[in-house]
Amino acid sequence: MMKEPEVLELHSETLDQIYVHAKGEFPDECCGIILSDGTREFVRKCRNVQNERHAKDPDRYPRDARTAYLMAEDDLNKIHQEGRDKKRQIKVLYHSHPNHDAYFSEKDKADATWGDWGPTYPGAVYLVVSVYDWRRFYLWLLEKLGLVKTAKAFAWNEDDTDFVEVPIHAKREA
Ligand SMILES: [Zn+2]
Repeated sequence: MMKEPEVLELHSETLDQIYVHAKGEFPDECCGIILSDGTREFVRKCRNVQNERHAKDPDRYPRDARTAYLMAEDDLNKIHQEGRDKKRQIKVLYHSHPNHDAYFSEKDKADATWGDWGPTYPGAVYLVVSVYDWRRFYLWLLEKLGLVKTAKAFAWNEDDTDFVEVPIHAKREA
């Protein structure tokens, strides 16, 4: 059984790529996965198919992509295949909250667990990126000053049998 991480260590470049993805999909949620071989990190974007599902079946999918995400199955399959072929682990599952703060919602929790069975991806951390339109500049400024974090990470905690926030340590590569 994989030990649940108590801190999320990431390369700054990885975080940067995810911010760019989140801003590019605004006002929709972006989603994706970070694969890791233990040293290197590989950002793999997933198509958010929530709008398609919502259009087809609004009863079952009442939200559209502005407040929900659903990773495209073919993208997920490719990522799993890459993981097997190249021995890369799923380190992080990420998505964005357009015009909302970075928190782990009840829906996020439900998506990340198999009912009472525990986490869907044991050992993986969930990263939620907050992205605002009108506050973008101010957030950028506050981020530069170290006053706010626009991303938060959540890991399964066996003792709490719940997801708890873990600090993000972003390291710039030498
Ligand atoms: Zn969310």
